[in-house]
Amino acid sequence: MGAGRTSASGSSEQMALKLQAEFITSAAQPEQFPAESLPEVAFLGRSNVGKSSLLNRLVKRDGLAYISSRPGCTQTVNFFRLEDRLILVDLPGYGFAKVPAAVARTWAVTVEHYLRDRRSLELSILLLDARRGWMQSDLELKRWLEHYGRRYLVVATKVDKLNQRERSRNLTEIARQCQDRPAVPFSAITGEGAKEVWQSIWDLPKRQV
Ligand code: GDP
Repeated sequence: MGAGRTSASGSSEQMALKLQAEFITSAAQPEQFPAESLPEVAFLGRSNVGKSSLLNRLVKRDGLAYISSRPGCTQTVNFFRLEDRLILVDLPGYGFAKVPAAVARTWAVTVEHYLRDRRSLELSILLLDARRGWMQSDLELKRWLEHYGRRYLVVATKVDKLNQRERSRNLTEIARQCQDRPAVPFSAITGEGAKEVWQSIWDLPKRQV
């Protein structure tokens, strides 16, 4: 990500402030994915994990990624362009108990297609609720990412809801189930972790798509 890396000496928070995010499209199925162009960073997580809040916080623009009022009902893949640098991809949430089996199947087909075939996918950001840690569906998704050789970053959301002791215990447990790879603690309320997430994005190696 050549253009982004030029900012590495400055603050990644400042960088985020300057970026203009623009909605590109919503795709209900793989045929509707836009043509591959810029490097893509995908966001994945269970419904209600705080994915929309994290996306909004990252680009500092409320309402960019709408906050879904009916968890699990939004099954589209949403693409946002950050100027001519990067595309953020909001993949549909999963693990919502009330979703009909057919919808869950469609989710699996669409997401697996994206993770398997998308050549421009550079980084996947896997969100876990810091209070709950890894759940079965998160572990399955992690296995997919590893199976398809995808680089990923684990982000533990809503850390503001934990006290110090819970926070330390839960973050340790989250890392333990991920080969001791630390998760980025994140709060959409305080903004903690936004800088680290941006840093991981800008640190991606330059790659021609
Ligand atoms: P999504 O379904 O994964 O997109 O989750 P949302 O971003 O819509 O968030 C689900 C709920 O959790 C909303 O009520 C948010 O206000 C709340 N939420 C999200 N992130 C945080 C956070 O970092 N801290 C706290 N305290 N609440 C959060």
